[in-house]
Amino acid sequence: MELKIALLKGDGIGPEIVDSAVAVLEKTAEKFGHKFTFNPYLIGGCAIDETGLPLPQETVDGCLASDSVILGAVGGPKWDDQPGDNRPEKALLGIRSAMGLFTNLRPAKLYPALRGASPLKDEIVGDGFDIMIVRELTGGIYFGDRGYREGKYGQEAFDTEAYSVTEIERIGKVAFEAAMKRSKRLCSVDKANVLESSRLWRKTMHELSEQYPEVEYRDMFVDNAAMQLVRDPRQFDVIVTSNMFGDILSDEASQITGSIGMLASASLGASKRGLYEPIHGSAPDIAGKNLANPIATILSGAMMLRYSFGLIKEAETIENAVDKVLEAGLRTADLMGTDKGEPLSCTEMTEAILKVI
Ligand code: NAD
Repeated sequence: MELKIALLKGDGIGPEIVDSAVAVLEKTAEKFGHKFTFNPYLIGGCAIDETGLPLPQETVDGCLASDSVILGAVGGPKWDDQPGDNRPEKALLGIRSAMGLFTNLRPAKLYPALRGASPLKDEIVGDGFDIMIVRELTGGIYFGDRGYREGKYGQEAFDTEAYSVTEIERIGKVAFEAAMKRSKRLCSVDKANVLESSRLWRKTMHELSEQYPEVEYRDMFVDNAAMQLVRDPRQFDVIVTSNMFGDILSDEASQITGSIGMLASASLGASKRGLYEPIHGSAPDIAGKNLANPIATILSGAMMLRYSFGLIKEAETIENAVDKVLEAGLRTADLMGTDKGEPLSCTEMTEAILKVI
């Protein structure tokens, strides 16, 4: 297969971890006889420095002309004083919306080898868990009407949560299909006891569930879901939820896996072209020190092979290589937990994974 992949390295540790993912993808392509071409484009703070904008048009055009996109991370203290509509993070919403990406898949997996890194007790995590959070990405409060107005107590600010049946059905189908490919359990998370938009969400999901009789479906209020994730994470397989609830719950789920440096994500739309990125940010505190854990970005590359290109064997080769290095006890600093010994640098961890592939 010949594929053109856009690279949005971004800021902070972005360049280091994207370079690691590229090395792993190149090695995998070589092993299986594919040809991947990588084209870098500016995004985030580095794009502001060069062009004045966090998401230059050239970057959007480059992504739309590629078969898929890998993103590192954006942002950092240097750009904290930028006005709201010109902040590096604004580029994330912009590129997702330009690429029509309405689904965010975030696996939260606790590897048995990393049990010690989870903040949860052994009896809660058992032999590990594997949750897939399906988050709606282009609707809800992050995109609704907002502004300032005169209210009862003077000036007030407001944001609006709105969801249409079409948007809910679209994300619901992705979640039911994902559940069908896994252990056929789906939990839809909402706040239907308070929010009108959640009541429509719940009604629509119920109607959709009739088309998937094999899937064991249930609803849960978001406050309960936040609690259940730390009380008994193994009860979950696929979780589907709105943009804001998904943002919060997926970060919570990432924490109980032990390290934010392990978690990949995929953003998908109607076409095969997706945006693949680690869930963590640009980690300015460790940027440029060769300390970052590259695994989340490497696993994002594996998700790209699986979801955009259907290269399942290739994706599994990368995932198995990650399993192997973890089982062998190799750790970057963020994964050390109570382990003793010397942590690996970003490049050493990448080398170890390349060696297994
Ligand atoms: P962060 O995820 O960058 O860092 C949180 C903590 O986790 C830090 O201690 C960091 O060192 C550590 N960490 C993160 N990734 C790691 C990795 N791969 N290996 C080892 N340790 C890792 O979150 P933050 O500090 O809240 O945000 C920093 C900047 O990143 C901000 O400007 C924020 O807006 C931005 N951000 C960007 C994205 C994105 O690009 N998608 C997402 C979240 C935050």
